[in-house]
Amino acid sequence: MKIDFQSLLRPSVRDLIPYAMEKIGHRIKMDANEYPYPWPPELFQAVMAEVQRVDLNRYPDPCAEGLRCTLSEELHVSPSQIMLGNGSDELIQYILLTFGGPQVKVFSPTPTFAMYEIITRATGCQFIGVPLGPDLDLDEKAMRLAIEQERPRILFLAYPNNPTGNCFRRSSVEALLEEFEGILVIDEAYFDFSQKSFLDRLPQHENLLILRTLSKTGLAGLRVGILLGSESVIQMVSKVRLPYNLNTFSQVAAQVVLSQNDFISRQLSILIAERERLFRALQGMEGICPYPSEANFILFRAEASRRIYEGLLSQGILVRAFGNAGWLKDHLRVTVGRPEENELFLKTLEGLCRKGDRG
Ligand code: PMP
Repeated sequence: MKIDFQSLLRPSVRDLIPYAMEKIGHRIKMDANEYPYPWPPELFQAVMAEVQRVDLNRYPDPCAEGLRCTLSEELHVSPSQIMLGNGSDELIQYILLTFGGPQVKVFSPTPTFAMYEIITRATGCQFIGVPLGPDLDLDEKAMRLAIEQERPRILFLAYPNNPTGNCFRRSSVEALLEEFEGILVIDEAYFDFSQKSFLDRLPQHENLLILRTLSKTGLAGLRVGILLGSESVIQMVSKVRLPYNLNTFSQVAAQVVLSQNDFISRQLSILIAERERLFRALQGMEGICPYPSEANFILFRAEASRRIYEGLLSQGILVRAFGNAGWLKDHLRVTVGRPEENELFLKTLEGLCRKGDRG
């Protein structure tokens, strides 16, 4: 019997392309906006000592009580305003499962983080991207008009935006907070690098949800995403949360890391200084046009971006390319690495730009 899987597939899934992170050989990984410092051995030992105390033969704490309480103290919100996820990707999916549905329109300024569109479509909603203005800021007029015409129910704003790296004009976001009547999600995945937030606006706006993640400060492998909102909306999203979505190891390890994170603050200052150094150096290079960033990466336009991408890779340096269609073609994104990694990246790129000059 031959089964016609195409006819069995949900129509919203039929045209999706699986999210594939290509496995490309490299020595220096500057493509995925990860934290470049490995854990110090003492931290690893402290995590292992705690993990030994828990029963891994049992299911995890379904509410991740301990970690939520630790985060509640750090972020000055009640534990009932926090939901944790297996990365913020999972929380994006929960938001869409809670408030989306067939024909529900979901907005985001574009270009932006690809998962908003992928999860929107996978959950059967309709994604509408509103292009950013030429200054890469929100195009307030276009957004307002599109909201009036299309009546989206959910709006995702990455702040700072990925891959452009900028935080949108605060007054434009404030206007959306005042006017938008659906669910406004502000994704602050890169908060530790921008120090800019709308968390203090939660008490006034019940429809505001804030996303954070521990992925960008050294815990990407643990997959811990944080959703913050009003107690009532967090309760609504809880209806679709799988009972044991955050595994025991991640719960315990994240708590230990958060209690011993002095080294992270020190390394963050180095990375922010390195970001500025990278930006200035890129600005000075022939054929390279970087965009200012408040995140842990820099987007740049490069003449012959394919040749540059491959030239970097041939020296073991992996950056992010965006294919050759749309606004992002000719652009590359580099994640800020450790100083010695950035140095090697700059030297190699400079060599490639000079080679280009000679024809
Ligand atoms: N939001 C934005 C804007 C991101 O860039 C990323 C990761 N690249 C995420 C969310 C996903 O983070 P997590 O690892 O918590 O799933």
